[in-house]
Amino acid sequence: MVSTKQDELDEIARLILEDNVTPELASQATQLVFGSGNPNADIVFIGEAPGKNEDKLGEPFVGAAGKFLNDLLDMIGLKRQDVYITNIVKYRPPGNRDPENSEKKEFMFYLEKQLEVIQPKLVITLGRHSLNCFLPDLQISRCHGKPMRFNGRIYLPLFHPAAALYNGSMRQTLIDDFNLIPLVLKKIN
Ligand code: URA
Repeated sequence: MVSTKQDELDEIARLILEDNVTPELASQATQLVFGSGNPNADIVFIGEAPGKNEDKLGEPFVGAAGKFLNDLLDMIGLKRQDVYITNIVKYRPPGNRDPENSEKKEFMFYLEKQLEVIQPKLVITLGRHSLNCFLPDLQISRCHGKPMRFNGRIYLPLFHPAAALYNGSMRQTLIDDFNLIPLVLKKIN
């Protein structure tokens, strides 16, 4: 039987469980939050780690930051089913603390596999943790909204919706940057 991209993604999720990735985090989380959306999407959004709501529902970006992300997608005529959304770290860090470097490193192997399956045209990093996992030397304050090619992939770094939600100027910057996405995709095509 021919396997679909979704089958291959399911296999990666299974591997994370089998390999017992970040057992400390896994033991305190409700479930693995692997990713959701369209495995054939042109765009993959990558956040930091699941929060309380994501941990409960098993889906990334379903809390306040997720609602804001939905609004931003809507603004450019996209729905969640048009894109793929995931995080670097796939278990909720206790108390919503920042993920540790070792935790991010452990998950990068599986995230790379996820991206190899999906083969997106554009990888959009949300926030500095996500950006620096791929482009460690860049500062989000300087490079947000600027598409860049690195190791055969095109990245667009954006501020994290949770950080921008309650900060007026960052919020406007994220909206402005988000509005660039259709043009960036058009140029790639
Ligand atoms: N913040 C993230 O980085 N990811 C989520 O899934 C939710 C909030």
